[in-house]
Amino acid sequence: MQQVIAAISTPAGMGAVGMVRLSGAGAIGLAARVFRPYNEEKSLEGMKGYRAALGKVYDADGPVDEVVAIVYRAPKSYTGEDMVELCCHGGSYALGRVLRLCFEAGAQPAQAGEFTKRAFLGGKMDLSSAEAVMDLVSAQGKGAMRAALAAKDGVLAREIEAIADELTAWCAHIAAWTDYPEEDLVPVDELQLAGDLNRLAGGMEKLLAGYDRGRLLRQGVSAAIVGRPNVGKSTLMNLLAGDELSIVAHLPGTTRDVVRETVSLGGLTLNLLDTAGIRDTDDPVEQEGVARSRKALESADLILAVLDSSEPLQQNDRELLELVRGKNVIAVVNKTDLPARIDEDELRRDVPCVVNISAATGKGRRDLESAVLKALALESADPAAALIANERQRLCLKSAADCIGDALDGLAGGVTLDCVCVCLEAGLEHLLTLTGKRATEAVVDEVFARFCVGK
Ligand code: GDP
Repeated sequence: MQQVIAAISTPAGMGAVGMVRLSGAGAIGLAARVFRPYNEEKSLEGMKGYRAALGKVYDADGPVDEVVAIVYRAPKSYTGEDMVELCCHGGSYALGRVLRLCFEAGAQPAQAGEFTKRAFLGGKMDLSSAEAVMDLVSAQGKGAMRAALAAKDGVLAREIEAIADELTAWCAHIAAWTDYPEEDLVPVDELQLAGDLNRLAGGMEKLLAGYDRGRLLRQGVSAAIVGRPNVGKSTLMNLLAGDELSIVAHLPGTTRDVVRETVSLGGLTLNLLDTAGIRDTDDPVEQEGVARSRKALESADLILAVLDSSEPLQQNDRELLELVRGKNVIAVVNKTDLPARIDEDELRRDVPCVVNISAATGKGRRDLESAVLKALALESADPAAALIANERQRLCLKSAADCIGDALDGLAGGVTLDCVCVCLEAGLEHLLTLTGKRATEAVVDEVFARFCVGK
């Protein structure tokens, strides 16, 4: 039987409410030793699941804090075990005292991620759902939150299990056919097998291809804003951030360093880098800024190349467009509130995606939003679709896909069905490691080691 574990599940620091969480057989009895409800006819041990009681936690000297105790009864709790949540006042002193009292009453300190690990081991969630819990905690934007919620609900696990089920059925069929030739079994139809494997491999490839989309949703998009001085980069950044951030000035070259800001655009988190103008300069401070700008360009997911519509394209602009050629670029033609003098046709020859805006008035912001989603192939993305969420999952799926590829090569090359079956079983193993159904203890430990205590 699992020990009762306890931890503070809310972040450190002052807050209106802080929570000590207990889980394990005996958790309710243990909590009853430190908590007394105001209503003397009530006791935690007599309460049904999902019920709460108001009362106080006491130590030998008297009351420690006023607390709401919520009781959960197995299996209907986060971990699947009996649980109690003691919702205290959020100061670290009171929380620390309550936690210590729980330890004195017999609870063990919870390890990092142990609540979620118990939920996994108790069959409450698969491994990818457990990983999604961590993504939920760290989600910053709407897209990231929806993707993590879908993963927590097991969307990826279900898709992987459906693939695994088909592979299992084929392995069983092949094994029966090859091991018991004397039985009157339906022969293995190799054409059908190859057809099925191709379809499954296609599904896996699609999931793998979505990995970057998931990364963009989770971690946000790094977007570099570039352009020669005075085209309105800082103004654009301020428009997107809704705040006065970088120095907006009429003199070219006033934004000397890379300015960073995180903004929300179309449900995405954009990590904006407003770069110093990229131009030749003798000023060493500005040179440093220019060097950083070039670096930001190299690593960005997306480049917003800002141009001034009120002036013809200049040599600097052309050099910049040359520099970003082949990258994921949106040409942002700014100052469209002024009479147009830019040759858009010439521009479109270099950059297919052109958006007209006025950073000063905010006109065209929506068009920019759509263009950004389109450039990242996110415009029609369903945030609730199955997504590979981390490198562990990607590696498992990639290895599985490789095994299916080997099986297909084998079939085409005329190897025995036994050999094909070995490849399929290896693929199956990788898929079940992904969902955690057959993950080794080491894999499971590694997943939960990345969690925080109390989760
Ligand atoms: P940066 O050097 O590229 O960062 O350019 P700034 O954002 O500092 O802007 C340079 C000048 O252009 C400032 O005077 C801004 O007020 C002006 N500006 C920026 N965007 C617009 C716009 O959309 N329309 C007009 N008319 N002026 C703008």
